Amino acid sequence: MNQKSITAIRASFLHFLNDPAKVDNIEDAYQYIADGILVTENGKVSSLTTFSQESADLYPQLEDKRGQLIMPGFIDTHIHYPQTEMIAAYGEQLLEWLETYTFPTEKQFSDKAYAKKISQFFVNELLKNGTTSALVFGTVHPESVDALFEEADKIDMRMIAGKVMMDRNAPDYLLDTAQSSYDQSKALIDKWHNKGRLQYAITPRFAPTSTREQLAMAGKLKAEYPDVYVQTHLSENKDEIEWVKSLFPERAGYLDVYDHYGLVGDKCVFAHCIHLTEQEWQTMADSDSVIAFCPTSNLFLGSGLFNLEKADDIKVRVGLATDVGGGTSFSQLQSLSEAYKIMQLQGQTLSVFKGLYMATLGSAESLSMADKVGNLTAGKEADFIVVDWAATDLQALRLENSTNLQDKLFALMMLGDERNIQSTYVAGKLVYSAA
Ligand SMILES: [Zn+2]
Repeated sequence: MNQKSITAIRASFLHFLNDPAKVDNIEDAYQYIADGILVTENGKVSSLTTFSQESADLYPQLEDKRGQLIMPGFIDTHIHYPQTEMIAAYGEQLLEWLETYTFPTEKQFSDKAYAKKISQFFVNELLKNGTTSALVFGTVHPESVDALFEEADKIDMRMIAGKVMMDRNAPDYLLDTAQSSYDQSKALIDKWHNKGRLQYAITPRFAPTSTREQLAMAGKLKAEYPDVYVQTHLSENKDEIEWVKSLFPERAGYLDVYDHYGLVGDKCVFAHCIHLTEQEWQTMADSDSVIAFCPTSNLFLGSGLFNLEKADDIKVRVGLATDVGGGTSFSQLQSLSEAYKIMQLQGQTLSVFKGLYMATLGSAESLSMADKVGNLTAGKEADFIVVDWAATDLQALRLENSTNLQDKLFALMMLGDERNIQSTYVAGKLVYSAA
């Protein structure tokens, strides 16, 4: 046995086994171990058990994290790494925001050195916020994707990303063509898809910035590589929806544009989906397509309130996402805090169990990777975080009289952020530590 590849940690543990919305008894949805031992070997979970002296004696290197909570790493199902530096840009809705802030920022990623610099910052920021996997937009430049994958690969991080395909309705300096976007995406798939823990996503930005020819090429690529993901945007903003209708009058609606070109299905992830029609909800369900719910972004850009209850009712998979730079925080705890308020405004509720499930196993299921990550059952890849219950004075005060797990977790979900992330492990290795 190679001693160096083993990690053993004693702490409290919380992880999910089922969707809380789908079980009769909430106890069937999660496992909480107040005093447990997690053992990982060669990057995978080998066991998670209740503490006993006998098991502790087997691991002389046992790390003692009593008083802290270990959870699976968070998974972010929609984020734009090139927008990291323009997070929190003032005062616009989607279409103006793209033109005024996003496009000029993305221009810089034709420079590989620049892309590398921001990739390093971005990966570190994810880890600092407890996010261990993400589905990520690059820019139109293939170099942007190379730079990001190189950084993720250094620490063996599970990451999905793709080069933006965009051949109209953006400044000339950011346009590719139907053919070049196909060729460049194909070359990136051959280079990166399933290399280590990396996977590729075909990435048309959204329908308005692609010609019919380009969407047809994206569909051709998806047909050639059925295992590859598709990521794009759908029904975020009412002006955007009207624009799509005017650009594609021959189609029944926004989602029908993607459907027509073969870009819906179980590995197709659509960010937002706030203003779907009844027919579109049904198409999402029938095609087993996936929604990335982006709470901080939807509020920041004034896009609208996502209907999570509806998605659960008709069994559409939903992952949680930050959508930085439209979103205002890298922290999935902040995403959940805003998700809770979005549901309150619609007369719905979001239990802390459903929320934390969505940030971990739920997002893994939405990305069809729950066989690999999302919880701490034996055999899963050992991506996990060590959480401080009370990283601020206010959190400490709030928890003073709190004895019930659900209440403590809820306070964490509403008040927590990157200050609560004490350390982050990827594939069993410590990759970030606040201390
Ligand atoms: Zn987005």
